[in-house]
Amino acid sequence: MTEQAQPKVAMVVMAHPDDAEFGAAGTVASWVKEGWEVYYVIVADGAGGGPDDATDVGPDQRLAWAEIRKQEQLAAARVLGVKEVIFLNYPDGQITPSLDLRRDLTRCYRRYKPLRLICQSPERNWFPQMFLGRYHPDHLASGEAALAALYPASQNPWDFPELLAEGLMPHKVLEVYITGSPNPNFPVDISETIDLKIEALKAHTTQTGPDFDAMSTRIRAMVAQTGEKFNLAAAEAFHRVENGGLPAPKPEKSR
Ligand SMILES: [Zn+2]
Repeated sequence: MTEQAQPKVAMVVMAHPDDAEFGAAGTVASWVKEGWEVYYVIVADGAGGGPDDATDVGPDQRLAWAEIRKQEQLAAARVLGVKEVIFLNYPDGQITPSLDLRRDLTRCYRRYKPLRLICQSPERNWFPQMFLGRYHPDHLASGEAALAALYPASQNPWDFPELLAEGLMPHKVLEVYITGSPNPNFPVDISETIDLKIEALKAHTTQTGPDFDAMSTRIRAMVAQTGEKFNLAAAEAFHRVENGGLPAPKPEKSR
């Protein structure tokens, strides 16, 4: 099968429930409208997402929060038309770019065969505001593992031969869209899907409520600011990388 003939499948790999909505929900909604099948992979179990002023944070509380965050993520995915959410259940707050995680993500790429991947940046962008930078170590670790799984592991039969034994053949992801990167080079116009992004964010009630009006105002201002850099009314920006072959040779100069 040629690359063009492959089904339009995209995958979003994020550390926590809600990261996909903050970083890429408008893009996800646009792709779904264009006929893409979108799958989410959430690396952490969400157990670290309780209130900042909590003083009782034992295993029971962590388990309860993990369940709440997962339900919120499933609800947000339904708003956007995401096909399926896969939870890898790594302990929240302790993600590292381990070989186990790289193998688990490689398994997802080979099983679902996405042509496009959205993931987080393994690099800090050093925005002066911590809120905008979102320098969570889980984000950096998930980003690193997602990219390491994309190249070369997913497409290389010699990486994780145990996956071949599971019947999972090598698969090449063709494009990657990185959120929160230091140098975004590719905007996605989300003026048609900004309302869906807000609705999906509302599904993460514990993180974005109860003042949804304030949240909505803040998000609209942020995507407008991002859009301004690219002459768009509203945008999400990514560092886009193609996982193609060698660049085409430059044409000879005509004399
Ligand atoms: Zn996060």
